[in-house]
Amino acid sequence: MHKYRIIAILTLCIFFANGTYAQVFRAGAAFRIITPDPLLPVSGGIGKPDPVSEKKGDLYARAIVLEKGDTRIAIVSVDNLGWTSVLGDRSRSLIKEIPPENILIGATHTHSAPDAYAFPDEQAKVYADLEYLDWCTKQIAEAINEAINKMQPAVLKISVGEAKGKIAYNYYAPDLYDPGCGVIQAITSPGSDHDKPIFTLVNYAIHPEVIGPERGILTPDLCGPLYNRIESQVGGMAIFINSAQGGMVTADNRRENGKEANTWEECIRIGELLADEALRILTNAKVQTDPVLFCVSRKIRFPIESPEMKYIFHNSSLKFPGSNSDSVSTRINLLDIGTARILTIPGEALPNIGYYLKRNMNSLQPFLFGLTNDAFGYILTKVDFKSFKRYDYITRTSLGEMTGEIFINEALKLINENQISADKK
Ligand SMILES: [Zn+2]
Repeated sequence: MHKYRIIAILTLCIFFANGTYAQVFRAGAAFRIITPDPLLPVSGGIGKPDPVSEKKGDLYARAIVLEKGDTRIAIVSVDNLGWTSVLGDRSRSLIKEIPPENILIGATHTHSAPDAYAFPDEQAKVYADLEYLDWCTKQIAEAINEAINKMQPAVLKISVGEAKGKIAYNYYAPDLYDPGCGVIQAITSPGSDHDKPIFTLVNYAIHPEVIGPERGILTPDLCGPLYNRIESQVGGMAIFINSAQGGMVTADNRRENGKEANTWEECIRIGELLADEALRILTNAKVQTDPVLFCVSRKIRFPIESPEMKYIFHNSSLKFPGSNSDSVSTRINLLDIGTARILTIPGEALPNIGYYLKRNMNSLQPFLFGLTNDAFGYILTKVDFKSFKRYDYITRTSLGEMTGEIFINEALKLINENQISADKK
């Protein structure tokens, strides 16, 4: 590991004869619409998906690719509840020009998209459309390949700040959520295409479940209006990556007398407000003309203790690798993109875990990419596990008591082995 880091740093120091850097930072972005035609039932969790009769907005796979020297990274966001590595690996196998471990695929967590887990019902019957899912994996690969082809020299703007206004809250305890919003924008280098945004990435913790699965509507929920607002304001492609939104950080669609607004208009209000806040947070960000690009990962393994989760792994027609064993493996990534340090989470970490990790990431600009590479339900600390009655549901839909501890320990090891952020500030 260290040997390769030294080689990477030496390579960074190589100059062309004319004095410019040999390594140019490049960025590209592309998307594919993955709205099923005809529409398919939608899933907000375990059990039989709900039928739909209309759509509001389209579902997307949105990909960005970054390159500097020998390092190339893809980050993909899929409008779905969760996108496991069983599907992600099918896309990775179709990409020749990026190592599979550098391809991060996450889900926005909309609760109004087709079932991508092939959830079994109580009779072990599965309703997912496997042909649709396979088609999506190809669309994702196409988006990544197009983004590779569209890469051009770029600079970055990065900022982290508090998104203000009525956007998110914690359904279990209103104030226990993280209003922190991270924004990364790649802009074409001056001279290449005159300072045009290539992409704007928004990282924020929220359940996009304003509409939810039970209203007969297929939709990206608040993410759709967020994409549209950013793209109409600044151009380029918008991409949303969720954060530590577990138990139970959700969209603030509360109305008086305990009522909720569950409409497309409310998706527009929240999506546009989050977009405006993200752009405001980015306003005074300094341009980073020669940003660092770094990516490492490690495989980790979780025991599967929850009977519900075991049942899904054993009976899903997606055929999870090792589905008959009592543990599951996944990959976590640590990235440095300019001054941003990013850690991925293979599920829905509770906000207290999110705060703890951000505080220990040795970065002034910590980002958490939730539901990325895998989405194994809720991630609680062993102390939260089976605690409040309120936590019954998230306890049952987590892998087990040690999931949070294992994840935190492995993440901290990865962070401590790769202290590049300290050097570059
Ligand atoms: Zn959730």
